[in-house]
Amino acid sequence: MTTVTTAEPLLSVRDLTMSFPGTRARSAPVRAVDGISFDIAPAETLGLVGESGCGKSTTGRLIVRLLEPTSGSLTYDGHDIGHLSQRALKPLRKHLQMVFQDPHSSLNPRQTVARIISDPLMAQGSSAAQARKRAGELMELVGLIPEHVDRYPHEFSGGQAQRIGIARALATNPRLVVADEPVSALDVSVQAQIVNLMARLQRELGLTYLFIAHDLSVVKRVCDRVAVMYLGRIVEIGDKERVYAAPAHPYTRALLSAVPLPDPAAERTRERITLLGDPPSPAAPPPGCTFHPRCPKAQDICRSEAPLLRITAPGEAREVACHFPEGA
Ligand code: SF4
Repeated sequence: MTTVTTAEPLLSVRDLTMSFPGTRARSAPVRAVDGISFDIAPAETLGLVGESGCGKSTTGRLIVRLLEPTSGSLTYDGHDIGHLSQRALKPLRKHLQMVFQDPHSSLNPRQTVARIISDPLMAQGSSAAQARKRAGELMELVGLIPEHVDRYPHEFSGGQAQRIGIARALATNPRLVVADEPVSALDVSVQAQIVNLMARLQRELGLTYLFIAHDLSVVKRVCDRVAVMYLGRIVEIGDKERVYAAPAHPYTRALLSAVPLPDPAAERTRERITLLGDPPSPAAPPPGCTFHPRCPKAQDICRSEAPLLRITAPGEAREVACHFPEGA
């Protein structure tokens, strides 16, 4: 495992696993995240994509320590945050924040926006007056009217509520923001506004993003590099241009073949790859390459030997976990 990256990482994830207890007595634990490794450089956006249930949201929650890893390491700016107690983590927590998928359900409907944005600040020791002043500034920063700070979440549209979620995440001046499907609950026109807002904030504040999504066209617009997850593992990771132009893993190829093309003529003639069946249950992953039951290229070795994530050509800015990667 080489983990292609371009600079000294702000976040390093190594062999991260998260197992949940099986649903039935004596059933095996379910590995939602199964030994993944990647880096994110400062001010970079890494897109994390995959079908529902592949472990991408669990990965995001592990990084901000809303979940406790089963094993592996998380290093943020030289600090081993994977093994710190919640108390020891407190001084670092302000640097690691999260934006959630459904803005309305992630905001407390009984609290004013001022309170919602102020809470993380007051937890870090700000006075009520300082926190309220900062809440107004953050409203303005995310394109909302500061005077609306005493309103309640239901008085805002979905897009405005997501701006509030972003303002709350930025309250403590984080360096790393994990955005978990931040636009998938929004109308397409509003999605573009939120994506543009996040890009502007990244430029102005030097933010580093882990951008989690199932929509590859959204990820293409925002990320520098992309990691593709399948059944708890990363199957392809690398520079966006490389992965989107020439996907090497059959799963990445299938996902990208379903993304609509803007040119109608190209859309009519493009090859679509249809995957067989649904993803297997993480409670009973197939042996060997876990993608083999759905893979159009599967051969005997795929059913017995799990492929390692590796560079497929010298100087290649991406890694692939496949015995027969495209273009190798
Ligand atoms: Fe398909 Fe085999 Fe590659 Fe897995 S290792 S993706 S089954 S070709």
